[in-house]
Amino acid sequence: MLSTVSAIHPQTTGWNFDNSYTTLPQVFFSAAKPAVIADPELVIFNAPLAEALNLPLAETAPAELAAIFSGNALPAGAQAIAQAYAGHQFGHFTMLGDGRAILVGEQVVAGGARFDIQLKGAGQTAYSRRGDGRAALGPMLREYIISEALHALGIPTTRSLAVVATNEPVYRETILPGAVLTRVAASHIRVGTFEYASALVHQEQKPEILQTLADYTIARHYPQVQENENKYLAFFTAVAENQAQLIAKWQLVGFIHGVMNTDNMALSGEAIDFGPCAFMDAYDPATVFSSIDQQGRYAYGNQPRIASWNLSRFAETLLPLIAADEAHAIELAQQAIGEFGARFNHHWLHGMRAKLGLAQAEESDGELAMELLGLMQRHRADYTSTFRALGAEANAPDSFFHQPDFQAWSKRWHERIAREGQTIVEAQKLMRATNPAVIPRNHKVEEALTAAGAGDLSVLQNLLAAVTRPFEETPANAAYRQGAPAEAGVYRTFCGT
Ligand code: AMP
Ligand code: MG
Repeated sequence: MLSTVSAIHPQTTGWNFDNSYTTLPQVFFSAAKPAVIADPELVIFNAPLAEALNLPLAETAPAELAAIFSGNALPAGAQAIAQAYAGHQFGHFTMLGDGRAILVGEQVVAGGARFDIQLKGAGQTAYSRRGDGRAALGPMLREYIISEALHALGIPTTRSLAVVATNEPVYRETILPGAVLTRVAASHIRVGTFEYASALVHQEQKPEILQTLADYTIARHYPQVQENENKYLAFFTAVAENQAQLIAKWQLVGFIHGVMNTDNMALSGEAIDFGPCAFMDAYDPATVFSSIDQQGRYAYGNQPRIASWNLSRFAETLLPLIAADEAHAIELAQQAIGEFGARFNHHWLHGMRAKLGLAQAEESDGELAMELLGLMQRHRADYTSTFRALGAEANAPDSFFHQPDFQAWSKRWHERIAREGQTIVEAQKLMRATNPAVIPRNHKVEEALTAAGAGDLSVLQNLLAAVTRPFEETPANAAYRQGAPAEAGVYRTFCGT
């Protein structure tokens, strides 16, 4: 087994690793060791991302990449750890931690930006509980596709650098092929990391660890708040602002995260851990894809509310830092939490104006947008195609556009554009740069994952080519611009752990 590993001498030098997380108190992490994989095989590698990370891998052979990104050969300077955290899962508090993910180091790029390099599915850690620490190929490829699609849509997200097949079985409801995903993130500090620190403070009276974590996170992500009079309140507000921007962007493209537990909310403002995620087809705020979300807690229309709920859990952890007097701290925190709705609405409306081709603000724009959404819901119009077709030069042959109630709305929309002194052609130009033609349609993602499972990666490559250039309309991406086939029925995603 080991001979396969040692026969290859991968290019593991030339990286610029730092391990700042390990300077935190020991309670925040545990040393970890990726499981040795006898026969790792590179499935996909994100060369442009590697280049952006200044990684010296352009000439590296697939077998060497497989050795590195399976965890068999760690880069020089790596210090592999699993991070401790807690979280509210579907509303219930639990102690968690990286049960199947290993942080190998922080790649520091030219200019000083720092990126966590994490191997997901690399084996058991101190936090695996009863889990096997492994991941299946399908869900890791799904994360790869969705993260790269979100990034191309201009949405802050963790990225995917590689997927390596382990050629080992993973035992779930069925036996699945195993894989390791290399995830790249601004950091993996979560709301749940603060909940963990707060829980320890309560249990073990270690008041200093919370402030240490807060100061570390501020230095890493929000150095601008350092000079603030109440820097921890300003820290909270900055995190809330980033979340308001992020969730507004999700809503504007119809993205449903699927499992917005507090451990899946990154303080950096990146989308993270979108396991059972999917994009909405027909507009309906009640849309839920995840098979484990029976109550619709994480439905499309609930995402802003859930973000606010998660931020409340975050604010609670910060109370002792916000003010010495608890009542005063609560008052300040509540006020800051209360501002989330307005922050979200601001970003949503700003984005919605662009989706409607509007360059200026008018009081009634929110209403105009909500009316269109209401009509889309009534007629079950496809969210992505409708906005794209509104921005098309020629009228799309879509039955929704022939409905009398839509036509009445459209007349008001045209009048609204005219009031800006804009022509419809100018407005539509803005719309085509704002409304994607291509999103990772559920049936296309499934098709790619099925083919990849059978050893054919060409379907996945074609899908990636389409979703990473979402605003283009070419003959090659025509099949990716279509809505879900009528026979598709209700789509279900599975947690895929
Ligand atoms: P996730 O659904 O990926 O956000 O994971 C939720 C929690 O379950 C995290 O603490 C994971 O580390 C843990 N977990 C998920 N799958 C596994 C697994 N196969 N083995 C060990 N821990 C896991
Ligand atoms: Mg998670």
